[in-house]
Amino acid sequence: MAKKWVYLFTEGNADMRPTLGGKGANLAEMTNIGLPVPQGFTITTEACTQYYEDGREINDEISSQIYEYIEKLEGITGKKFGDLENPLLVSVRSGARASMPGMMDTILNLGLNEKVVNVIAEKSGNPRWAWDCYRRFIQMYSDVVMEVGKKYFEQLIDKMKEEKGVKQDVELDANDLKTLANQFKAEYKSKIGSDFPDDPKEQLMGAVKAVFRSWDNPRANIYRRDNDIPYSWGTAVNVQSMAFGNMGDDCGTGVAFTRNPATGEKGLFGEFLTNAQGEDVVAGVRTPMKIAEMEDKFPQAFEQFQNVCKILEDHYRDMQDMEFTVEHGNLYMLQTRSGKRTAQAALRIACDLVDEGMRTEEEAVAMIDPRNLDTLLHPQFDPAVLKTQTPLAKALPASPGAACGQIVFSAADSKAWAENGNKVVLVRLETSPEDIEGMKTAQGILTVRGGMTSHAAVVARGMGTCCVSGCSEISINEEKKEFDLNGEHFVEGDWISIDGSTGNIYKGIIPTKDAEIAGEFGRIMAWADQFRTMKVRTNADTPKDARKARQLGAEGIGLCRTEHMFFQPDRIAAFREMICSDTVEEREKALDKILPMQQDDFEQLYEALEGDPVTIRFLDPPLHEFVPTAEEDIKELAAAQGKTPEQIKNIIESLKEFNPMMGHRGLRLAVTYPEIAKMQTKAVIRAAIRVKKDHPDWNLVPEIMIPLTSDYKELAYVKKVVVAVADEEIANSGIDLKYQVGTMIEIPRAALTADQIASEAEFFCFGTNDLTQMTYGFSRDDAGKFLTAYYDTKIFENDPFARLDVSGVGKLMEMAIKLGKEVRPNIHCGICGEHGGDPTSVMFCNSIGLDYVSCSPFRVPIAKLAAAQAAIEQKKAK
Ligand code: PEP
Ligand code: MG
Repeated sequence: MAKKWVYLFTEGNADMRPTLGGKGANLAEMTNIGLPVPQGFTITTEACTQYYEDGREINDEISSQIYEYIEKLEGITGKKFGDLENPLLVSVRSGARASMPGMMDTILNLGLNEKVVNVIAEKSGNPRWAWDCYRRFIQMYSDVVMEVGKKYFEQLIDKMKEEKGVKQDVELDANDLKTLANQFKAEYKSKIGSDFPDDPKEQLMGAVKAVFRSWDNPRANIYRRDNDIPYSWGTAVNVQSMAFGNMGDDCGTGVAFTRNPATGEKGLFGEFLTNAQGEDVVAGVRTPMKIAEMEDKFPQAFEQFQNVCKILEDHYRDMQDMEFTVEHGNLYMLQTRSGKRTAQAALRIACDLVDEGMRTEEEAVAMIDPRNLDTLLHPQFDPAVLKTQTPLAKALPASPGAACGQIVFSAADSKAWAENGNKVVLVRLETSPEDIEGMKTAQGILTVRGGMTSHAAVVARGMGTCCVSGCSEISINEEKKEFDLNGEHFVEGDWISIDGSTGNIYKGIIPTKDAEIAGEFGRIMAWADQFRTMKVRTNADTPKDARKARQLGAEGIGLCRTEHMFFQPDRIAAFREMICSDTVEEREKALDKILPMQQDDFEQLYEALEGDPVTIRFLDPPLHEFVPTAEEDIKELAAAQGKTPEQIKNIIESLKEFNPMMGHRGLRLAVTYPEIAKMQTKAVIRAAIRVKKDHPDWNLVPEIMIPLTSDYKELAYVKKVVVAVADEEIANSGIDLKYQVGTMIEIPRAALTADQIASEAEFFCFGTNDLTQMTYGFSRDDAGKFLTAYYDTKIFENDPFARLDVSGVGKLMEMAIKLGKEVRPNIHCGICGEHGGDPTSVMFCNSIGLDYVSCSPFRVPIAKLAAAQAAIEQKKAK
């Protein structure tokens, strides 16, 4: 039997999301629970995958099923494609398994042609509506299916409005729209070279193909990479009979949430436009009215809608984001999905759902996207400075957070300026999803048009980027790169500050401050802690980082990169003296200067962590990063060492390496210069002894971590040096102190021989930055140059330096743990590469039994939540 590629809405349900996509599954579910849904069918995500397998063609089996389902839909609706009595018109929309708002394409009013438009114009007695539908269809079809740019059509509309002396599309009459439709068709022919298609079946196949193709458009690819959505999932296509919101003043269309997506507050939130079609609200072409105002205009439909909202929330037990249309006072539901929300809203909604008895604590923890928490940790304006400022204007607070930057006017400029190290605010008339790259690189986004549910708002909220939208007081000239706002003139490069939480816009610079975390955040994190089994530590190089991480809930330090303790100007000199020493005596002299600095830092780290584990990694400096290059610095160093600048230059020359990442770094340094390891051991142990004296109740067990081991014998050599010094220091102190010596596993050979290494190492910590570098043979410093080509060609879906490569690097990790435990069953294992803060990678770490992940301070809450979710998933899977 042939595979089933198409399902009627009556054949599906909410559990069929992988096959029907989110939109299709929910349309089926809404149909099942008896809500007013215009009927239709869904072409599966598998058909999309098949389309790509077949070289971007819809094969005969799939197309014949689509034709079969058109007939079924004709039977259900009593309307027919291309019919002159009762024509069927449909919308064609994408719908992936995970929602990707605005990333893919939609076509409305499909089925219209010159004959049909005349029929519906006459039968409805509403020719304006009929021609409005037709011109919209030509416009969307040309743009989406044939890729004729939108702008040509917009220019024609603007010209028409100017000629008629009107401002809004709705002020154009039937004749104007008819003229426009004909102009559009002529434009189509001039661009494409053939007539606009009249056959609804041909139109439908073109539209379905276009939706499949849109799965692979650049903005969808970027969105997927950011949100960890696999390319292999594909998108479904929903073909749904049209309900019309543009048939007159007793019609309209809206987008609404059951709770406020910015704050989480319970209650209907959204926007409505009379006499309009869906894309008008989303694209922000006209500024819509608040949903509450709908009550006056459409009391019955509004009451029905409120009822539907309650049913849907109770059914899905989550905040819903819905699209609907009112046609002559009757309500039609076009979509429902769990709404995208800000981090604040996500926390509040999760807590409220628990309090309302709709969700368990475990479910509440599982429903928050850990990546989203990032926005909570984003900066806000310094309140002291803010008090002294008067806003220049106020618009919609579309996505919270504060941003301050230099004005740019295009996505491309945003990207280019940001790459040059500038902070920018992207100012646009309205944004469309093509702008996503530029929105990502901007500190904030300010738009002239659009409401809270316009693309700019939805996308910015998803990305956690501050956004103020709908500032209609701005008079902008994007081409000339300038705008006026309340008497002030702004050009490219001028500074502006915007507040996405209040909608305020300020001229000039307002400094930003880190956000404070409180309220529901604490509740959720406390619940997460109950379910979590893996610990979350932090990578902290300075006492300041360590204190911040502690505030954010770090349960230890998993990595202190000691070389990073020497970046300050007052310390770098001593470090350079150490590097540029010719003899052991010279080096020891420099080390004597460094020892007290290190000891002091370590004491502060132990203090900050209050007895929780602190792992100190011995020096791993790629030497080229630390040697002086400026003539003055060379002179200064020469003077300090009693050498000539020439001698110093010769030393620097001798330190040059062809491949510093694989050069004289890590424990290789300790093998050549054991005195460095001795000094660091003294600093670690002396600091611990000091702090232990002050806090005898703390279980202080310093962890000394040796980097870059590739062979157990080199580890044994360095460990012997460490242990001799540590034991002597402890004996001299008269205090009983335990310590551990472990290693990083960051070279494939270390993973392959982890059993031998475990005979020396008391713990393993996976340095997945180097392990990824060396497993792939991709230089960490250079991969950025060619990885884009890997994404473009779909060789990679994401950056292996950001998301752990489970099948390669992950396999090495699993092997190392297994081998290590054979020799040392209680060996403690963690990860401290960048992957330790990436939610997907954290899930994997949990599954292979790591004891902890360690990540940068601001990612600690994210990792904790991801670890809790991993534990919950794992428990469920058992
Ligand atoms: C690693 O390699 O993953 C690591 C944590 O060390 P570094 O980034 O300092 O090389
Ligand atoms: Mg490393």
